[in-house]
Amino acid sequence: MVNTSIRTTKSQEIFAAAQKLMPGGVSSPVRAFKSVGGQPIVFDRVNGAYIWDVDGNKYIDYVGTWGPAICGHAHPEVISALHTALDKGTSFGAPCVLENILAEMVIDAVPSVEMVRFVNSGTEACMAVLRLMRAFTNREKVIKFEGCYHGHADMFLVKAGSGVATLGLPDSPGVPKATTASTLTAPFNDLEAVKALFEQNPGEIAGIILEPIVGNAGFITPDAGFLEGLRELTHEYGALLVFDEVMTGFRIAYGGAQEKFGITPDLTTLGKVIGGGLPVGAYGGRREIMSMIAPAGPVYQAGTLSGNPLAMTAGIKTLELLSKPGNYEYLEQITKQLADGLLKICNDTGHAACGGNISAMFGLFFTSGPVHNYEDAKKADTAKFGRFHRGMLEHGIYLAPSQFEAGFTSLAHTKEDIEQTLAAAKDVLSSL
Ligand SMILES: *Cc1c(COP(=O)(O)O)cnc(C)c1O
Repeated sequence: MVNTSIRTTKSQEIFAAAQKLMPGGVSSPVRAFKSVGGQPIVFDRVNGAYIWDVDGNKYIDYVGTWGPAICGHAHPEVISALHTALDKGTSFGAPCVLENILAEMVIDAVPSVEMVRFVNSGTEACMAVLRLMRAFTNREKVIKFEGCYHGHADMFLVKAGSGVATLGLPDSPGVPKATTASTLTAPFNDLEAVKALFEQNPGEIAGIILEPIVGNAGFITPDAGFLEGLRELTHEYGALLVFDEVMTGFRIAYGGAQEKFGITPDLTTLGKVIGGGLPVGAYGGRREIMSMIAPAGPVYQAGTLSGNPLAMTAGIKTLELLSKPGNYEYLEQITKQLADGLLKICNDTGHAACGGNISAMFGLFFTSGPVHNYEDAKKADTAKFGRFHRGMLEHGIYLAPSQFEAGFTSLAHTKEDIEQTLAAAKDVLSSL
């Protein structure tokens, strides 16, 4: 199936109209095609590993709605559970037992989590966790890493990844200087820089927040000893360690990157997969810290739709499906087949590239690398990525429209899907 000239007339019409109605025509900037050129595709439906546009073109999808679709889109068991839940109503604004069930599943799975609070997005989870870090330590400063994305709250829009990196915005206008003044940044994988920040700000740093595997500056893995080093430094300086596992949670392993690497942070943020495609975020951690959250304690955080029965249902079903034996082995196998295959094709066709995968998350940079941090990632040839992206799209492969995003596979992707993707990549890279 090599359809090198796809028709996207309807997509173009709808997107042209959208641009008059919504800023940039999208509800979230990473969906635009600004950094790869051309116009975004407008979609009609999703199923399994595939996504269909409004013109009837079918694509193999490696965005997976930015991570949640790890069991495959519209999994019949998730959809059927949602139908049943829907008949009981969409939101109670009061406790429901489904919250207990998902909370127990998260607590059982994620090593650092003894108590959990559900919210509606990863952004909300990260905002709340920051307030909690500050309240618990009675300190205001926080360390984040360049290229890491923790949602769009003011305090985190400093050297942030994802759309901020893609669009090359240094910071966002509208963010008060006073808000970001207490956000300190260091290069990823640089323990010395972190140590220096602790020494320059004695007794002032509440903690460190990071993506344990970076997925919002492209795909960047922690060097051996980096996460251990952060754990030791935070202990030494009486600060908290927070893993933002909104992307990696239940994707890298059932217990997230913390299970994979055997490093237990004090607090963890979650989102994406735990909502199974509905809006959910969560934060959790040590009981002693989480007990400070209202109404158990004085740290305020609330949400009208938080813990709603539909989102809880999609999350519970998704985790149930994921927890079956063999799933993570399968995800690792197909994702490695893809990541290794892409590197080999780049090598064979003379394109400098580096990349790889951990479990169901992968990346490819058009640079000889190695990529240890955001500065390294920025050396990648984004113009080439744009042409690669367009070529893959025309071959029926939907990749995230930015060099600075990780790719995602799902249980629905077959070996044949991966082979078809690699055949397309060979075609595209040979002609670039
Ligand atoms: C996606 C993401 C967020 C933000 O989550 P939203 O649900 O988009 O608000 C935060 N942190 C990380 C690591 C993410 O990947």
